[in-house]
Amino acid sequence: MINTNEILKKYDLKLTKTLGQNFLTDINIIRKIVDTGEVSPSDFVLEIGPGIGAMTVELAKSAGKVVAVEIDRHLIPALSETLGGFSNVTVVNCDIMKADLKSLVKDWTGPLKVISNLPYYITTPIIMMLLESEIEWDTLVFMVQKEVAQRMAAPPGNKDYGSLSVAVKYYSEPKLAFTVSRNCFIPKPDVDSAVIKLKKRVLPYTQDVDKEFFFKVVKASFNQRRKTLLNSLGLQPWVKGGKEGIKNVLVKLGIKENVRAEELSLEEFIKLTKELAHTSNPEA
Ligand code: SAM
Repeated sequence: MINTNEILKKYDLKLTKTLGQNFLTDINIIRKIVDTGEVSPSDFVLEIGPGIGAMTVELAKSAGKVVAVEIDRHLIPALSETLGGFSNVTVVNCDIMKADLKSLVKDWTGPLKVISNLPYYITTPIIMMLLESEIEWDTLVFMVQKEVAQRMAAPPGNKDYGSLSVAVKYYSEPKLAFTVSRNCFIPKPDVDSAVIKLKKRVLPYTQDVDKEFFFKVVKASFNQRRKTLLNSLGLQPWVKGGKEGIKNVLVKLGIKENVRAEELSLEEFIKLTKELAHTSNPEA
C-alpha cells in the first residue's frame, strides 16, 4: 500500500476540494472495491480519477490493462512514481467528461469495466455519460456518496426511488455492495460513502422503445413526485386528451388510476411510454 501522506508531502501536493480530492487510505476497502468488480486478466479497466494511484496499483495487479484518467496535472509526477512498476497502466491527463472514450478503450476485446472512487461534485453527470455512452462496458463499480448509491439502487415504492433509479435500471442491474466510513479518506469528507455495482442489462424490454420519449415521460412523471400521474402527465401539452387520456392508458395497462410515479417499475414506465407514443405527440 502506498503511503498517502508521504507522497503528498514528497510532491508538495495540496488537495483540491473543488475536484473532489478525498483519497482512500484503507487497503481493505480498496481491495473490496477491486473484488466487487471481479477484475481478471482478461479485463480492461478504465479508472476515473486515480489520484495518487492507491487503487490503480491494486487494479493493475488484477486487470489485463488499466487506463486511468486524471484531470489534475499536479498529480501526474506522483502517479509516475506509484505506477512505475506496472507496464499495463496508462495515465491520461484530461477531464473524463471531455475524453474520447472510444479511442481510450480501442484495441481491447475482453470485458470493459469502469471502476472509480468518483469525485462527488460531478457524480451523476459522469454516471449518466457512461451509461449512455457507446462504449461496450460490461460492469461499472463506483464509490459515491451513500445517499446517491441508495437512490440508484432503490426499488419502486422506496422513499429514495426517483428518476435516477429508473435511468440506472434502464441500462443496468444495480446492486449496493457495501458502505464506507468517512474515516477511510484523507482528507475526511463530510459524508459517508457506498460502493455500487452496475451490471449491464441484457436488453429485452428496452429494445423497441423510443429512448428520448421514455426519458421525457419519466422526467415529467417525477417532476412533482407526490402528484398522481393523472395530475403530472395529464397536464403535459404533448399528452393527447389530458387527464382523461392518461386515465384511459392506465386502465388499458391495468395500472390503478391514482398511481404515483414513485410506485411504477421500469417495466411499467416502458409500457406507459409505448402506449403514450401512440396517443401523444412526443415532439410537442
Ligand atoms: N482514486 C483515488 C482514491 O481512491 O484515493 C482518488 C479519488 S478522488 C475521490 C477523485 C479523483 O478524481 C481526484 O484525483 C480528482 O482530481 C479526480 N477528478 C476530479 N474531476 C475529474 C474529472 N472531471 N476527470 C478526471 N478526473 C477527475
